[in-house]
Amino acid sequence: LPKLPVFEAIARHDPDSTVVVHSGSGRRFRYGELLGDVCKTRNRLYETAGREDIDGERIAFLVENSYDYVVTLLAILAAKSIAVPLSPAFPAPELQYILNHSEALMLLSSAKFANKAQEVLRTELDEQPAYLQLAKFQGGSKHENVTLEKSGPGSAGMMLYTSGTTNRPKGVLLPQSVMTAQARSLLQAWEYIASDYLLHVLPLHHIHGTINALFTPLFSGSTIEFLFPFNADAVWKRFAAPFLTPDQTPDPDSVSPFTREKITFFTVVPTVYSRLLATHKLLDHDMQSATRKAISPANLRLAISGSAALPTPIKQAWSELSGGNVLLERFGMTEVGMALSCGLDVADRVDGSVGWPLPGVEARLVELDTHQIIEKGHERDADGRERVGEIQLRGPTIFAEYWRNPEATAKEFVDAKDGRGKWFKTGDVAVRRPVPNAGKSSTPSQKDWTRGDLYFILGRRSADIIKSGGEKVSALEVEREMLALPQVAEVAVLAVPSGKWGQKVGAVVILDREHLPEGGRWTPLDMRRALKGRLANYKIPQVLKLVDHIPRNAMGKINKKQLVKDIFQ
Ligand code: ATP
Ligand code: MG
Repeated sequence: LPKLPVFEAIARHDPDSTVVVHSGSGRRFRYGELLGDVCKTRNRLYETAGREDIDGERIAFLVENSYDYVVTLLAILAAKSIAVPLSPAFPAPELQYILNHSEALMLLSSAKFANKAQEVLRTELDEQPAYLQLAKFQGGSKHENVTLEKSGPGSAGMMLYTSGTTNRPKGVLLPQSVMTAQARSLLQAWEYIASDYLLHVLPLHHIHGTINALFTPLFSGSTIEFLFPFNADAVWKRFAAPFLTPDQTPDPDSVSPFTREKITFFTVVPTVYSRLLATHKLLDHDMQSATRKAISPANLRLAISGSAALPTPIKQAWSELSGGNVLLERFGMTEVGMALSCGLDVADRVDGSVGWPLPGVEARLVELDTHQIIEKGHERDADGRERVGEIQLRGPTIFAEYWRNPEATAKEFVDAKDGRGKWFKTGDVAVRRPVPNAGKSSTPSQKDWTRGDLYFILGRRSADIIKSGGEKVSALEVEREMLALPQVAEVAVLAVPSGKWGQKVGAVVILDREHLPEGGRWTPLDMRRALKGRLANYKIPQVLKLVDHIPRNAMGKINKKQLVKDIFQ
């Protein structure tokens, strides 16, 4: 195998320690067998291609969250090719789009998705990819000696498609050097250790599930247990398993029958926390106390939230339920991996903030109207108003390019004036604010980066910054205040076109029935009254619509432009 840092790390881990566990079946796989299986699979890629020179070729794969997924991803890196993970939840036309767009040389699938793969191969594709059905690994194979050659990484890497929240998903090329830099940054910030045990409930075709919860823990020698698709009840059972006594589990179906290790690390999107909180109330007494113990700070070392803004009520409710386990929020995107994060110290997990630039990441804010860089110490203008800017990033964790889209790549990067590379324009808008008690960590790995003013995300430039009669309103800020009202369960704040104001603040709301007054009536007028005093008048939604459902994509995100059209136009 070529000498990739991830392979070197895996080769150093205790071969008998567990790398992957399948929830449900309880099947286990060890670090010692991983590289042997990677090598075998890499050789099958060569056979299928009919050549060994597949450096830089895109190889798409459709594999369930499992040990086989891990082997497949690493085997493609080992072949110096570019791994394109596909979501089994995508309908055929979406798969067809990605196969065409990525110009895939090969499509791999597990037995489970062979039919789906065949179906998409029968559609009209620009080029017919070769097909390979992957071997299913059983676990417990003997340790094989795999040598790491001197040869370099070639073009090895991964291509992930963005969530498609604002537009057609874009192909983001992440060379293995970028993946490795992202992993190293997270290893330092979140201090993954070999004894960490992650419960993995995320899709594996997005950066969150792939880099944060899979690729990075391979470096630390941690264990990853796949429980997928996410199911709140199953997740609670799994958390509870190590904390229930045998007499508390008369019903064998009530807990995970095979896996009982304590979960120490959990990273998901805000909607997952919200679903878990909602279902916790329905658990029986023993399960409630076992799960509370399981998620207490003493047991669940780190619970992280990201991919969308974390509503403060969810953060507070989780903290209350768990006896003080404060969720750590971070900000990331497909193009940059993780960029900003709160720190491990609880004082560094400030409500509404996404923290500081992660180790190795350079961040700056560029003011929206003036295009001036908001320098340190100049976070307010002459009139004392907060200056709002786009987050721009640079460093080794930033992606190389949008695949086959040089126009988009050129548009989103700006040359750095100091001649050191280029800045990537995230399209997300933020402010920096001082927070008196945060950023005082004395732990060496933390104090290098958890310093200075904290970043607060205001939202996407294209959809969340509402320009209403000369004022700029952050949709995220309004959402945060609205969610603080007990009557509001879910909300999306939107820019609604207006002849008079340019745009006006609109909101789509799901009410929380439990907290409605007697009789259950709560009108938009009541809501506007409740917001007075919480928000400046011009930020209070002028148009409000009560709904039963707000559509979200697989990562829990809302396509706001579409929603405005559907609801207000
Ligand atoms: P597309 O680019 O295809 O429209 P997308 O931007 O949703 O989709 P991702 O790369 O998965 O695709 O998501 C990145 C975006 O998610 C960020 O640009 C940001 O808007 C949002 N985001 C991520 N973390 C946070 C957070 N902690 N708070 C607020 N927003 C966040
Ligand atoms: Mg995006």
